[in-house]
Amino acid sequence: MFDSVRTRLTFWYVGVLTLVLVAFSFGVYALLAGNLERRTDAGLHAALDSMKHLLGYERAEGDSELEAARNTVAELRYPHMALAVYTADGQLLAETLAEGDLHATLPLAPSDVHETLRLLTRPDARTTKEDRLRVAVQRVRALPTDAPNLIVALQSLETMNEELTSLRQVFLVAVPLALALAGLGGWFLARKALTPVVSMSEQARRISASNLEERLPVANPRDELGRLAGTFNELLARLNVSFDQQRQFMADASHELRTPLSVMHTTAEVTLQRAHRAESEYRDALVLMDAQTQRLARIVTDMFTLARADAGHRPIEPTDFYLDELLAETVRAAQVLGERSGVKVSVEPCAETIFHGDEGLLRQMLLNLLDNSIKHTPSGGQVSITLAQRDGVIEFVVADSGSGIPLEAQPHIFERFYRVDEARSRSVQNGATVNGKSSGAGLGLSIARWVAEAHGGSISLVQSDPAGTTFSVELPLRETS
Ligand code: ADP
Repeated sequence: MFDSVRTRLTFWYVGVLTLVLVAFSFGVYALLAGNLERRTDAGLHAALDSMKHLLGYERAEGDSELEAARNTVAELRYPHMALAVYTADGQLLAETLAEGDLHATLPLAPSDVHETLRLLTRPDARTTKEDRLRVAVQRVRALPTDAPNLIVALQSLETMNEELTSLRQVFLVAVPLALALAGLGGWFLARKALTPVVSMSEQARRISASNLEERLPVANPRDELGRLAGTFNELLARLNVSFDQQRQFMADASHELRTPLSVMHTTAEVTLQRAHRAESEYRDALVLMDAQTQRLARIVTDMFTLARADAGHRPIEPTDFYLDELLAETVRAAQVLGERSGVKVSVEPCAETIFHGDEGLLRQMLLNLLDNSIKHTPSGGQVSITLAQRDGVIEFVVADSGSGIPLEAQPHIFERFYRVDEARSRSVQNGATVNGKSSGAGLGLSIARWVAEAHGGSISLVQSDPAGTTFSVELPLRETS
């Protein structure tokens, strides 16, 4: 039961309200009881003061002690108060009774009554109830020359107790009633406030990888629950995009792998159709299959690199190394490729530059760029690469005199599996070729971009037209260790 937020909220609410109401009731009760007691005492005090003055007045008028006492109690009549005048040794001189035949008896031994007024509470001998009596007593002298008298005023606390009892009864009924109503109201409020959470969780339970485009209901986008649903929906949108990318990646990958595999299968099938063939025919078939195997291997390696990069399993492993040396090394490898297809690869001399980064990945990035340039430059053409350093940034510029990238293809070249020559290469039975050279799977520039970005840099196509293409890579110079 306590596993529900609604129930817990209601219990907390009722608990706090109980504390407040109980404290409030006790406070009001104590205040009223104190006020009533003070009012009774003030009444008794005033009665004794009046008796004292009246006694003095009567005696001054010449009345005897007994007459003065009788006149005093006769003149001062309070319906709820009993009054009495005693001699100093406790003999009753005169008294008036209060309602209910209440006598103002001496509450103390005469010798214990002093000139300062004393207030006492005594049990009411007339009733079995818990009602008590409040008594004020004082030793007074009517005239300075007179013997002292003891004056007593007494009042029952029954009325006060009745008032307090009815207040207690009101509290005993009203507080539980208020708590029950508040609890019920709190439960309904919590239920109403949490209804969006229930519908959100029901909807969230229905969402899986197959319907990631669905969203949680947002009742009010500005309140806390609305913001929570909004944040959750944004998360779903991001997941949906990345699921779509994964699906696209899988579809493109299988598509790319199918072409070389079917070329290999067809080659083997055609070659084996006849029982005997010339050795040169077997050799041609094997050369073709070898080219397709190499292509497959490159596609798989590229896919593996990107898949690990996406999964975060290929963090960059930075070391300090000489960038100019890496460039020279990469250019030497590219020159070998270039020589085969009659393309001249040149590098501008550059200053010694220490760089902090992943040497292996940067080599792959430069090779991808140079490889693309060589592939798309016809025999007799040129490819150049320069390395420059300015304002804490390293810039590589790779330029070629190749065929260029069509304008409509330029925004897409960094997308995975995007190839300008795709339509052409697919129609060729023996696989993808450009200028007679084997084409990739459209992953080379994606990898180059990831490497540049993983180093905090960027890659861009500077210009491309039928006279040639220029790519630029900018990398921030990091602290060398
Ligand atoms: P691939 O690995 O198949 O070469 P890339 O991602 O490296 O794929 O390149 C994507 C497309 O961009 C290629 O199909 C190619 O047509 C085009 N491209 C890249 N570099 C050049 C270049 N220097 N000259 C002309 N076209 C280029």
